[in-house]
Order: sequence, then C-alpha cells, then structure tokens
Amino acid sequence: MQSSESRKIPDGRPPHFDLIAGNVCLDFVNTLDDRHTKPKELLERYDDLVRFGEDAGLLGVEQAARLIKRTSQDPGRARESLRRARDLREAIHDIFWALINERPVPDTPLARLNADVQKASEHLRLVPNNGGFEWHFDALDNFDSLLWRIAGSAADLLVSDQLPFVRACSSKDCEWFFLDTSKNHHRRWCDMKRCGNRAKVRRFYARKKTA
Ligand SMILES: [Zn+2]
Repeated sequence: MQSSESRKIPDGRPPHFDLIAGNVCLDFVNTLDDRHTKPKELLERYDDLVRFGEDAGLLGVEQAARLIKRTSQDPGRARESLRRARDLREAIHDIFWALINERPVPDTPLARLNADVQKASEHLRLVPNNGGFEWHFDALDNFDSLLWRIAGSAADLLVSDQLPFVRACSSKDCEWFFLDTSKNHHRRWCDMKRCGNRAKVRRFYARKKTA
C-alpha cells in the first residue's frame, strides 16, 4: 500500500484525498466519509471531483486545469456532472456493500452502474502504442469523462478474481472500502494510522479496565 505521505501529485501539491483503498472505484466510494454514522461529503464542488481524479492518477495536470477552467465557464453542467458522479458513487457503494455482507446485489444500483459503463464504452478507442494497442478514452474535456473511468474501474473489479478481497474497514465509525491485497488477506483496517491504532488503544484500555 502506498502511504499518502509518499505520494506526490505531478504538479507538486500534496494529495487532497486519503487514497488508501488500492483501487480507484473503492477510493471513490470513500469520498463520502463516515457514511453510516455522520456522513461528510468530500465532493462538495466539481473541482473536488477533478482533484480526486488527479490524486487517483486519472487526470493529468493539463487536463485537470482545462476541466477546472470549463467549470467556471459552465457551472450548471459541472454541477449536473457532480450530481451524476455522486449517484454513481452511491451505486458502486450499494453493490459492494451487498457483496461484503453476502447479500444479493440490488437491481437499481447495478442498472445505474451498467448505464455508466455503457456510456463509457461509447468513448473507448483503441490506440496503437509500442507495437501493441491500448484503450483510451476520447473527449477527455467532457465533464463526465471522470465518471467513465470510475465506472470502468468498478466494472473491472466486479469481473476480476480480486472481488472476494473487497472489504470494509472494521471500525464501525469508518467502514471505508479497500482491496485487501495483503498476503494472508487478513487486513482489517482502512489504514493503521487512521483506524488500526485507534482500535488498539481502545482494546488496551478495555483490558486495563477488566484487569
Ligand atoms: Zn477505517
């Protein structure tokens, strides 16, 4: 896992988001902080979404700057796109939350994700690269282009063999999502510093009390 301190954004600024999940779509779910206790929206403005895209490596510096510029020119459409992004986020959350809790995946969020995956595929192009080919998205100045990438990340994870390793943090106040790529797949916390140590301290005092 990359620690947030060691990461640097190409333009040199420190990252805005705590990306601990090891997967773009799961980090995206975590942009509604403390979801089940005291929800805190980390995507308040379209600019926040752009910053997430930059932090997550979905956008380059120039692309991010162009999108931010377009936001000031067309704030209404940027707001609409932000609303769609949050809807997509909640759909991705609901799908993985059902899977984590071994419940059937509800139809509505799956239909929502499928709609975004279909939209994304309309913008996919094969581009030659080093004698081979790569998938690229066109229309990267489109406000929704970040949504295509995030929907694609969720779809890729759902069909991958990594799916059983999607977890929610064991702290009930937190429940951030992450992909458990640890060797024994026993990772419990989103981050040792954020939740693991807090839990250790609580256990320590609980033991002292009973002793
Ligand atoms: Zn946590």
